[in-house]
Amino acid sequence: MGTTVKTARPDLPMLLTSLPGPRAQALIERDRQVVSPSYTRTYPLAVARGDGAMVEDLDGNRFLDFNAGIAVVASGHCHPRVVEAIQRQAARLIHMSGTDFYYEEMVALAEALARIAPGDAPRRVSFGNSGAEAIEGSIKLARYATGREKIIAFYGSFHGRTMGALSLTARKAVQRGGFGPLVPGVLHAPYPYCYRCPSGREPGNCAVECVKFIEETLLKTVAPANEVAAIVVEPVQGEGGYVVPPRKFFDELARVAKQNGILLIFDEVQSGMGRTGRMWAAEHFEAVPDILAVAKGIASGMPLGATIARSELMNWPPGAHASTFGGNPVACAAALVTIALLEEELVANAARMGAYLMDRLRDWPRRFPNVGEVRGLGLMIGIELVEDQGTREKAPGLRDKLVEMAFRRGLLVLGAGDCTIRLCPPLVISRDQCDFAVETLEECLRTLTSAG
Ligand code: PLP
Repeated sequence: MGTTVKTARPDLPMLLTSLPGPRAQALIERDRQVVSPSYTRTYPLAVARGDGAMVEDLDGNRFLDFNAGIAVVASGHCHPRVVEAIQRQAARLIHMSGTDFYYEEMVALAEALARIAPGDAPRRVSFGNSGAEAIEGSIKLARYATGREKIIAFYGSFHGRTMGALSLTARKAVQRGGFGPLVPGVLHAPYPYCYRCPSGREPGNCAVECVKFIEETLLKTVAPANEVAAIVVEPVQGEGGYVVPPRKFFDELARVAKQNGILLIFDEVQSGMGRTGRMWAAEHFEAVPDILAVAKGIASGMPLGATIARSELMNWPPGAHASTFGGNPVACAAALVTIALLEEELVANAARMGAYLMDRLRDWPRRFPNVGEVRGLGLMIGIELVEDQGTREKAPGLRDKLVEMAFRRGLLVLGAGDCTIRLCPPLVISRDQCDFAVETLEECLRTLTSAG
């Protein structure tokens, strides 16, 4: 709990007060009175400003942000080019409603997204303000385009909080409890979480049971193929624990979808926009979705979501789907600069720093008895903690303590899944910052487990 001064370097943490400091405490008290208690605040961080991968709290304490605003600020906090684009756009046109009128920024962004989306087919884009809205647009489009009503999603998935997205979400009971009835026609299949294989297989003897379940069980019993509009999948499960499926999962999914006229919707809200060291996680698996849902990192923190689909699929009539604020000019301007930054340098940096982090973390399961698995793509890395490597008993308590202890040492990380630490820093992260994160996590792990 004591004050730890780490370093005076502006790119590394420096703690001046105990945490939370007096200003943070006062804000948290006010927040408690008036802000919805449904928000999950893991530790008492009250932020005043951000710069690159660093954030400063109200008391002047500086933290290294390995959360990136939950995988949002792809180009770091307040990248000067993003700030400049937002300011310039705000001075010219803040809102016009792209649902009813035309403006350059929306068209330019749709062109850019159509160009970078996985696959070669011409694309069209529908804009919203969030990941949940991108999913709502995707499932509405899938139903509309196929004339079918059922949707298959996966256990462990998180797709958002609105009623449609929530109906697909199958992560935590508290997220759904008390909100029913949810949207009908949604079925769930096991996700290829190979460390905890839902079919009890090892990767070597897996016959892609997760897709087999869709083909052999769902489609043959409760969901006749001609009633299934789409399968919705996160190419890397985010909130579920940063779980990376094997390539053959995507091959099989594509086969089953194609054979049955079912659309594939990829939710790249968390895994997209360069985070995995490619523009889209789908590229790692050479997979091409029919519909792509994007948000979070797309506009470096401005609210924006997009549903991207093949042009001939996105062929619904005027009035069928729209959003007043979706594709707001300021958000679009931020997204255009974000895409430029990603293409110029940040996707490559994510690949480079992701590989560097992975090199430093790879042997943790051998070095630390409480680390079950380290997995990930690019800067989307999960460290799963267990009580025992043999039984793989989950260690949520240890994970939570580690997250809290890291905060008290100036490193912001959060959990994902039941017992995984997620690393999702801004894509501007440097080698020194990676070193600081790894060394801090290692120190915390040693202190908490007296291992290694
Ligand atoms: N899809 C995925 C994969 C997500 O991780 C999230 C949010 O964490 C969402 C959708 C929902 O996004 P939003 O909170 O912007 O509605």
